[in-house]
Amino acid sequence: MVLKSRWSFETPQKSLPSYIFESPTATLPTTAAFISTSDPDNHYLSVADYRLYAQRVASGLLRSGLQPGDRVLLYSGNTLFFPCVVMGVIMAGGIFTGANPTYVTRELAYQLKDSSARYLICAEGSLETGLAAAKEVGLGVDRIFVFDNGVATFEGKWEDKETPAGKIRHWTWLLDSEEKGKAFYWKDLKTDEELDRVIALNYSSGTTGVAKGVMITHKNYVANCSQQIYIIQQHPDYVEKKKRQRLLCFLPMYHAMAQAVFCVNAMVQRVPVYMMPKFDFLEMLQCIQKFHITDLILVPPVVVAMAKHPATRKFDLSSVESVGSGAAPLGREVCAELEKLWPDGRVNVKQGWGMTEATCAVTTFHPAALSLSFSVGELAPNCEAKIVLDDEGKVEAEQGERGEIWVKAPNVMKGYWKKPEATKETITEDGWLKTGDIAYVDKDNNFFIVDRKKELIKVKGLQVAPAELEALLLDHPSIIDAAVIGVTINGEELPRAYIVPPSKEKATAVVAEDIKKWLAERVSKAKRLEGGVRFIDVIPKNPSGKIMRRALREQAALEVTKA
Ligand code: AMP
Repeated sequence: MVLKSRWSFETPQKSLPSYIFESPTATLPTTAAFISTSDPDNHYLSVADYRLYAQRVASGLLRSGLQPGDRVLLYSGNTLFFPCVVMGVIMAGGIFTGANPTYVTRELAYQLKDSSARYLICAEGSLETGLAAAKEVGLGVDRIFVFDNGVATFEGKWEDKETPAGKIRHWTWLLDSEEKGKAFYWKDLKTDEELDRVIALNYSSGTTGVAKGVMITHKNYVANCSQQIYIIQQHPDYVEKKKRQRLLCFLPMYHAMAQAVFCVNAMVQRVPVYMMPKFDFLEMLQCIQKFHITDLILVPPVVVAMAKHPATRKFDLSSVESVGSGAAPLGREVCAELEKLWPDGRVNVKQGWGMTEATCAVTTFHPAALSLSFSVGELAPNCEAKIVLDDEGKVEAEQGERGEIWVKAPNVMKGYWKKPEATKETITEDGWLKTGDIAYVDKDNNFFIVDRKKELIKVKGLQVAPAELEALLLDHPSIIDAAVIGVTINGEELPRAYIVPPSKEKATAVVAEDIKKWLAERVSKAKRLEGGVRFIDVIPKNPSGKIMRRALREQAALEVTKA
C-alpha cells in the first residue's frame, strides 16, 4: 500500500533565494540572525546582511567569469559567511558544492574532479591540502580563494596568501561593493523547468559505491524546507514560540541537514542561529546556557554524550524546549535518559529520518505529538512512501512487516551528477527513490528504521562508503581481498575491515595494526578502521561477485558479543 502524508499543500513556485529573501529589494530584518558564539556582540549578520553579502558574492562571481551551472566548491568549517557563499553561488546561477573540512588531499581531489569545480574557496588553515588537491586535478591558482573565519572580513584585514604555488587571493576579491551587491538582482524563476535547475551537489554514496554528487534543485530545497516549516507552524503556540526561539549550529554546513535547518529554514522564519566554528562538547553546553538556546538539533553521538556525560548536569539547560535528532539510528532508552535533564517532563526527544537524496528530511512529528518509542515519526507533508519486499518494488509489506522504504516526493533529487546509471538504479522510472533503509510502519503510520540494506556506514552521523575503503585497502601489499562493514560497538557504528592475507603468517595483530595505521594516513577521521581489522580466509561473495555484507555484519555482531 502506498502511504501518503496526512498533510499536503502546494509547494511555493519560487527559487530558493526568493523563498528565503522574498526579493532582491524586500525590506528584511536587521536584527542579528547568524551570530558568532565567540564574539556575539560584534560578529553577526542579519537576514538583510545575509542577502546583501550573498548578492555581493553573486555579483563578484559573475564579474570573475562564472558561467551558468559552474560548480563552486567550498572547503571549510562553519563561519558566518559560509551561508552567504552558498546563497551567492546560487543567486549567480552556479552550483554550490561543500566538502567535509576534515577531508585529506585525495578525498578533496576526488570531489573537485567529480564535480569539475571551476572555483575552490578554501579555509585558510586547510590551504596546503586545498592546493595539493587542486594541483592533482589541474585547477589553476587563479581559481582558488582563501576563506577566513569571518573575523578578518568584519575587521577589514583582507590578505592574499603567498604560497609556493603562487599568490592565492582572499575570497573577498569575489565580494563586490555594497552598491553593486544592492544592484544585483537574481533571476526571478517561475516555471517548472526553471525551478528544476540544479543548485547544489551534496555528496552521498547512496545505496552502493563511492560518493556521488546528489543534484538538488530549487524545487527540491523549497519543497523540503516548506514541508518542515509547515509542520513547525502546527505548534499550538507557534507565533509566541517563534519570538523566543534561538538555535545553536555546530553541525557541518557542507551537509544537507545543516543547510536546510539553519541556512534556509531558520532564516525564512527569522529565527536567530548561534554558530559555533566547530563542535566541542563542553563549549556546546556553555553556549546552550549562555545564549538560552530553545531548540537543539543534534545527531545521535551528541544525544548520547549529553545523556551520559556528568558535565551536562553542571549547566543550566532550562531554556531548552525541544530536542531533535537525525542522521543515524538512536535508541529510545538514551532519549529517555536525556529527557530526565528536564524533570518537569517538558522536553521530548524526537527523531527524524531522511537522506541527502531526498534533500534532507522525509519523516517528521507533529509538534504536539509525543515520541515514546524509537520511531522516526510519520511522513512529512507532500511525501509518499511504500515498504517493499522485492527489488522491483512489486511486493509491498503488510503493516508491521519489514522491507525497504521507497519514497516519492517533490524533494527527491534530480539524480546523481553525471552518473545516469547510478541514478537509474536509485530512482525508478515512475519516480520512486529506493532508500536502502529497512523499516516497518505501525498502525498509526509511524515509521521505524530497523536496518540498512545498503552498504553505507554512518560514523557519528557522517557517511562512510565501504567501496572507497575497500578500493584503498586492495592497494596494500599484505592484502589479497578486503571487505568493510559497519559494526556497532557500545552503541556506535564503526568501520571494520575483513582482510584476506597473502599467507597465514601475515594474519597477525601487528599486521592488523599496520593496516589500520596505513589506511588512517589516507582517509579523514570518520573513515578510520576504529571497528578493527579481522582476518578471514575468503570474503563471502554471491555468484555475481558482490560482497555478502549481511553475512559479515552478522559475523561482526557475534564477534562483538563474544568479546
Ligand atoms: P545522509 O544522506 O548522510 O543524510 O544519510 C542518510 C542515511 O542515514 C539514511 O538513509 C539512513 O541510513 C541514515 N539515517 C538518517 N536518519 C536516521 C534515523 N533517524 N534513524 C536511522 N537511520 C537514519
